[in-house]
Amino acid sequence: MGTIDTRPPFAALEGREAKALFGDIATPAYVIDEGALLRNCRLLAEAGEKAGARILLAEKAFSNYDFFPLMAPYLDGTEASGLYEARLGKEKMPGKEVHVFSAAYREDEFEALLNYADHIIFNSISQLEHFGWRARQAGKEVGLRINPEHSTQEGHDIYDPCAVGSRLGVTRQEWDGQMTPKMLSLIDGLHFHTLCEQDSDALEETLDVVLQRFGDVLPDMKWLNMGGGHHITRPGYHMDGLVRAVKKAKEGRNLTVYLEPGEAFALNAGYLVTKVLDITRKGETMIAILDASAACHMPDVLEMPYRPPLYGAGEPGDKPFTYRLGGPTCLAGDVVGDYSFASPLAIGDTLVFGDMAIYTTCKNNTFNGMPLPSIYRRSGDGTLSLLARFGYEDFFCRLGRR
Ligand SMILES: *Cc1c(COP(=O)(O)O)cnc(C)c1O
Repeated sequence: MGTIDTRPPFAALEGREAKALFGDIATPAYVIDEGALLRNCRLLAEAGEKAGARILLAEKAFSNYDFFPLMAPYLDGTEASGLYEARLGKEKMPGKEVHVFSAAYREDEFEALLNYADHIIFNSISQLEHFGWRARQAGKEVGLRINPEHSTQEGHDIYDPCAVGSRLGVTRQEWDGQMTPKMLSLIDGLHFHTLCEQDSDALEETLDVVLQRFGDVLPDMKWLNMGGGHHITRPGYHMDGLVRAVKKAKEGRNLTVYLEPGEAFALNAGYLVTKVLDITRKGETMIAILDASAACHMPDVLEMPYRPPLYGAGEPGDKPFTYRLGGPTCLAGDVVGDYSFASPLAIGDTLVFGDMAIYTTCKNNTFNGMPLPSIYRRSGDGTLSLLARFGYEDFFCRLGRR
């Protein structure tokens, strides 16, 4: 596997060092850090081994397939949100399991999906009725997503599949009203996904509710997929709780347990390198316009929302010079946040945002005709190599025929 730097990547890196490391690459650019990725993979493999669970990569968080060969030895397969991710998983992680969950499958894609996925999870009994037998005939494992109706997050409805009125998963009431013995005989496994960036206490709590509400049907199942949202690789995560939960699910049952984290695989494993284009003052507020956009290049900063770490910078007011950092688009709210610095920023300065591998490269957009950031690999020895560069044609081809 070569020599991999096992120090915490840049947690302690000063801004000036960051500039020295990345200063000469064309910006904006994402840099994916192989050392950090590997550390996460090893932790996840260890979690799977200790708990006795199979680990899938939820591709929607991180689907940079150049890194799949590096990651493959540490995981059992991929989890897709539809046809394209299923195909990517099948083709770029050869020999691994391909699971797919979609809120609804399309008639015109289902045959193609059968070429790529081996576990197909349905979101409703009507979808199961419509497509389940075809999946079964094609030799696929068939699953149904359940909704335990137990929220462990508050004030965060956009990321809470258990919020009132959620369209995700079959509730026990629906199950009791619509499930027939024939439909039940089609189901090999159950799936629940209710967590988001959570520790194992939320999983244990949720599992108890799942066992209460759906425990009576588990003896008929071959597997149970506990979804994603497990922040297994974040410092301080309680692995012992995860191990307890998986053991409890398997106790007295012949169940294979799957976990399908996305974030945890690439948590803190990437940077967004950007340069200062302009500096202005609005009353008391100093503003720096960057060549990276929150709206286009780090959409979760606005959607989640969250404040990404910025190397060498502090909270507003912590250090003598505070700036509001924003993107070059027309959107008034295209603002990353307020950050403070030891010395004044200057036009041309390089800034490095952390935790930029997840929900970025697979979620960015070309709003305002913004260029997509290049993607670089940072190898274990610190060398940078360009993986992808984007230009006008990437903006153009999404809007019409060439
Ligand atoms: C989003 C999602 C995941 C991954 O979630 P993370 O928060 O990135 O770990 C896994 N499974 C399903 C069904 C999802 O929707």
